[in-house]
Amino acid sequence: AKDKGRDNAQFFTSEMANVVTKKFGIDKEINDALASNQFALVYQPKVGRDGQDILGLEALIRWHHPDKGFISPAEFIPIAEESSLIVKIDEWVIDNALKQMSQWRTQDLEIVPIAVNLSGRHLVSDSLVPYVADRLAKYQIPGSMLEFEITEGVLLQDIQRCVEVLTELKALNIKISIDDFGTGYSSLSYLKRLPLDTLKIDQSFVEECDTHTEDAKICETIIHLAHNLELMIVAEGVETASQADTLASLGCEIFQGYYFYKPMSADAIPSLFSQRLVL
Ligand code: C2E
Ligand code: CA
Ligand code: CA
Ligand code: CA
Repeated sequence: AKDKGRDNAQFFTSEMANVVTKKFGIDKEINDALASNQFALVYQPKVGRDGQDILGLEALIRWHHPDKGFISPAEFIPIAEESSLIVKIDEWVIDNALKQMSQWRTQDLEIVPIAVNLSGRHLVSDSLVPYVADRLAKYQIPGSMLEFEITEGVLLQDIQRCVEVLTELKALNIKISIDDFGTGYSSLSYLKRLPLDTLKIDQSFVEECDTHTEDAKICETIIHLAHNLELMIVAEGVETASQADTLASLGCEIFQGYYFYKPMSADAIPSLFSQRLVL
């Protein structure tokens, strides 16, 4: 038993050491990545019922590491969220999305609102609103062309502060979406306290909305809730025609997912609009 205890102790120690090195390692690597342009943005369109109208884009970050290759945001964003690194990443995303829009504008290309995912830590920080106001001015982009996607959990941590910040963002005409709606806290009271524009139905409900009655009912309920509160509704992660048809029949108006478009590089975006004009 004594030996076993010692083994366990060693196990935990080396395991913990591992976590620590891994975390320090990745923090440094994220800083390097910011300094040496290893991040890129891809854009996933949001479309109307007919699948043709491009109503907006969501910016999603990509990390091409020089040695390790592609690293998923699902892997490094949660680590970055444990420190102020996430603020640097989010600022990089905001800056690059706005810069992209200003480039499209200079080329006389059509632009639609771009949604940026925002971490909770950044939302409640003092630096967000001044930063965004500064970049909108720098790139001469109206606030109505920018949207922030935030998750429910974020809003419940410090609701008073969220009301303040979201009110300031609204004053800049920025749109606010609740991401992954339905997966977070069960309290709905925040919906009436916050100046919101859109609910995004989480992919986990969309996945089986056409095959499981329960999932269809949840989607329907979220759609009705959104409409009753005069919010827009977006279904994310739509992969099949059958899912899209089901959601449309339940009243959903905006769709996003591989069935319509995968996230794509900025270069591929302008042709989506010219295609539409030719039709
Ligand atoms: P999310 O905001 O919920 O983004 C949706 C994710 O689902 C994206 O994964 C997108 O590529 C993927 N997706 C879109 N359509 C489909 C579909 O039809 N089927 C399936 N299976 N997946 C689909 P991605 O880009 O790997 O991002 C994962 C998560 O990482 C995001 O979830 C978001 O929470 C976070 N993230 C990504 N980019 C950023 C960023 O720039 N800043 C921050 N703070 N978080 C980000
Ligand atoms: Ca999102
Ligand atoms: Ca989402
Ligand atoms: Ca998600």
